[in-house]
Amino acid sequence: NEVTMEKIVALAKGRGFVYPGSEIYGGLANTWDYGPLGVEFKNNIKKAWWKKFVQENKYNVGLDAAILMNPRTWEASGHVGGFSDPLIDCKNCHSRFRADKLIEDHMMANGQEQPVIDGWPNEKMEAYIREHKVQCPDCGKSDFTNIRQFNLMFKTFQGVTEDSKSQIYLRPETAQGIFVNFKNVARTSRKKIPFGICQIGKSFRNEITPGNFTFRTREFEQMECEFFCKPGTDLEWFAYWKDYCENFLKSLNMNMENVRLRDHEKEELSHYSNATTDIEYRFPFGWGELWGIADRTDFDLSRHSEYSGEQLTFTEGEGKDRETYIPYCIEPSLGADRVALAFLIDAYEEETVTDAKGKEDTRVIMHFHPALAPYKAAVLPLAKKLADQAEPIYEELSRYFNVDYDVTGSIGKRYRREDEIGTPYCICVDFDTETDRCVTIRDRDTMEQIRIPIEDVKGYIEERLQF
Ligand code: ATP
Repeated sequence: NEVTMEKIVALAKGRGFVYPGSEIYGGLANTWDYGPLGVEFKNNIKKAWWKKFVQENKYNVGLDAAILMNPRTWEASGHVGGFSDPLIDCKNCHSRFRADKLIEDHMMANGQEQPVIDGWPNEKMEAYIREHKVQCPDCGKSDFTNIRQFNLMFKTFQGVTEDSKSQIYLRPETAQGIFVNFKNVARTSRKKIPFGICQIGKSFRNEITPGNFTFRTREFEQMECEFFCKPGTDLEWFAYWKDYCENFLKSLNMNMENVRLRDHEKEELSHYSNATTDIEYRFPFGWGELWGIADRTDFDLSRHSEYSGEQLTFTEGEGKDRETYIPYCIEPSLGADRVALAFLIDAYEEETVTDAKGKEDTRVIMHFHPALAPYKAAVLPLAKKLADQAEPIYEELSRYFNVDYDVTGSIGKRYRREDEIGTPYCICVDFDTETDRCVTIRDRDTMEQIRIPIEDVKGYIEERLQF
């Protein structure tokens, strides 16, 4: 009963988590729309991240910067010059690929577990492809063009004239909106180093090979934190944030057997980075990066100081201890859609159950942590005529969290439907409810049932939403 992408995609589409984008027009490749359950689920993930990174973390504050930024930003950040992927074409069938991914797949097919080819110059990649006669995944031939660098930024125009002066970009990451506001936030929040700024928002990258459902798309959401610290303390903070991120996943019940931390080797590190670790998840298609955690030194603030003329420094101490410096920065950067996909896969289970008549059946369960579940509970009256009892319970609970209400079909079928969308608690209203003022609560994972007074239900569930 292995989890496959087919099963996840089918459940996501069938139950209203994720639909193909623009479907009635035949779709738009690699775009996805979150349905009624998907939007709740992804919002819950974003809320959980915000809770841990902003609300509960004494160092951090939040920000919501614009997607469109002054184009100088992207010159300073290095994205105009350097944010590109190595593009290669098959001369036979004209399919296009990322050369590095082509090599990585070839290496993995030949038994290498963790190929690392970041930082390889184009000549080295071209030589590898030639020497190993790497085949085109689409037609099987091994005849490729040379590699060209392809910039991943989406261009657009601001205002009514479409000339180069009005050309701007959709941001390829949320981080730069944070760096350009470093001074504003430091001044207005009266934060002292060390402190961090967190942001959740859309980013856009014209990826050459998007795919694997929502794993890699051209429009996606990021949850980023830029944490500023004193030079020399950066490696300590780097370790702090690595732990913090790992604990976040643990606290939401991600199965840590499917998670690994991969430290970048010296030659793989960006020239400005002192240390980088990726938190990876074991997807059905292989290990993939969830979270990039990087010690970016003073690279970003230095570059923005240089390009903007505004000194992005921090001053501390008094008298002869007074010192001014450009802070170092630790960046934990997580994809909201990617981690949502990981949580979907991680939660999926098929269980074989035998009914009272001895018939075998498959029960699909999404074991979401209650904090992430789209519905925290479902109110299920045993019969339609119990609506008078059940509706007020639904109305009361809905004031505090998201609750489903379902009266159609047998109670067994309704339980199964709730299991499949990960509702942790089903509240069954039966014929005794009117007299004993109690309901039965069924646990999704154990299927155990307990009977408790109606007025205790809210507390019972709220307690279990904690993480
Ligand atoms: P990859 O190597 O997978 O392209 P990256 O190293 O370019 O990723 P970063 O620039 O470090 O990614 O972005 C930080 C995070 O944003 C990633 O760990 C991932 O979770 C998310 N992310 C990046 N690109 C995409 C994308 N195209 N679709 C969905 N999520 C993405």
